[in-house]
Amino acid sequence: MNYATAVHETVAALRSIREQWAELLLAIETPPADVWPPRQLAHTLRAGDDEPLVVEDRAPLVLREHPAPLNVDALDAGLAIERQVFALADTLAAAVQHASHGDPRRWDFQNPGAADARGAAGSRAHGLHFACVWVEGRVLDEDTEPEQQLDGAPAAPPFAPLPPHLLHEARRTARIAEGRLLRTLGLDQRTTPVPDRPCPWCGGELTLHTDPHEAPSVTCATGPTCTAPVGMTRTGRRVWEWGDLPELIAALGVDMATAA
Ligand SMILES: [Zn+2]
Repeated sequence: MNYATAVHETVAALRSIREQWAELLLAIETPPADVWPPRQLAHTLRAGDDEPLVVEDRAPLVLREHPAPLNVDALDAGLAIERQVFALADTLAAAVQHASHGDPRRWDFQNPGAADARGAAGSRAHGLHFACVWVEGRVLDEDTEPEQQLDGAPAAPPFAPLPPHLLHEARRTARIAEGRLLRTLGLDQRTTPVPDRPCPWCGGELTLHTDPHEAPSVTCATGPTCTAPVGMTRTGRRVWEWGDLPELIAALGVDMATAA
């Protein structure tokens, strides 16, 4: 694999983790979801339209109390993903970091001798989102040029460029973490029969399609004779694309207020 492709894939995986992290945090507080309605859609249409969950600088799961998580699988996945990404940041920092203490770009290691839990956590205290952004900066070789000091003298760059073997380590770790996250949320590529909810137009079996790179869709197994007012796939099945799903959900009579 060439260097540019590895950079691209690593950055894509890190961004996917950041984008879906709020969903995982919500999933921990929610009983395991059925396949219907699609979790992404349930979240989008959730009654009351809560404030979106802001994940920047959220305390990491490792520093929080979890008295009664409603979805233990989601919590386990979240803790594992944090461990993997934090350990990756440690590895990269040990190899390429020259930023001085107090520089906000610096990744601080854990410090068991610190006075409190947040201090002992080092940069882990800023949470997974920060760690993903920091790792992305190393993968993109940001801040690797000499910098001008106040007196005009050039200062050593805060970071050295990432050597290829660490880029490949970053790519491997980020993709494993992304895969676990998407599987936990049911957003990896899969097709799932929708149980107990036949097509409202023809009674055919409905199937939910999810893909990490596309919005979810639903198909009806009947074929062109199904009278649902939506388009067809290349194989002649009625398909509810993202924009059609609210209509399908309404036809199925799902109460979105309780579905999420
Ligand atoms: Zn149908």
